[in-house]
Amino acid sequence: MEKKDGLKKHSNKNPQISIFIDGSNIFRAGVNLYGKKIPPENLVNILSKNKNIINTYYFSSEDRANARQVRFHENLNKKHQINVFTEPLAYKQKIINCRNCNHQILPGKCPKCFYDNILKPETSKRIDVLLAVTMLDKMNEFNEAILVTGDADFIPLIRKLKYEKGKKILLASFKDSLANDYVNPDSETGKKVVDDIILLDNYKKQLLK
Ligand SMILES: [Zn+2]
Repeated sequence: MEKKDGLKKHSNKNPQISIFIDGSNIFRAGVNLYGKKIPPENLVNILSKNKNIINTYYFSSEDRANARQVRFHENLNKKHQINVFTEPLAYKQKIINCRNCNHQILPGKCPKCFYDNILKPETSKRIDVLLAVTMLDKMNEFNEAILVTGDADFIPLIRKLKYEKGKKILLASFKDSLANDYVNPDSETGKKVVDDIILLDNYKKQLLK
C-alpha cells in the first residue's frame, strides 16, 4: 500500500487523538477472520501505543434483554474507560412469509410449522449515524481521530472533518473489510480519503491475547 500520504508532515506537534470504533465492524471481522471476538480493549491498546489519547468511543447495537451483552458494554466503560454508545437492537414489526411453510407470520417462530425465522436486525445504519453525530459532537476535543471501520458510508463525515474542520483522520481496518474507496483517490477531491490507514491484520497476536 502507498504510504506517501501518511508520511506527510502535520502541523500539530502535540496531537490530541480520539478513537471512534464501529463495534459491528470489528465484531464481524474477528468472527470471520479468526473465529472469535476481538476484545475492544486490545484494539484500543494497540491504537493508543505512544499516543496522546483523549477519549475512546465504542458504538454498537445492544439487545437490552441480553444481560451478558449489557454487562459486557458496562465493563468496557468501567474497566477500560471506553465510552459506549448503543442503540437497542430492534426487528421491524412486519408480516413476512415463513421460510419453511410460506405461512404469513411475524418474525420469529412460525406458529404453524415451528420453524425459527430469524431476521437480521436492522440497526446497523442507526449505529453509523450515531457514530457520525457523536464524532461531530466531540469534534472540539481532538485534532486527530482514529476511526475503526472499513465501511465507505463514513466518507462524507471524513471529508467534512478533514477539509472543513482541518482534522487529521486515520482509519484502522482489516484488509477484508476495507472498502476500495479508501484505497483509491477520492473522486470528489482527487486525494486519499484518509491521512493514513492502519492495517489491523498486522496485529493479530495482540488483538486476540
Ligand atoms: Zn412455517
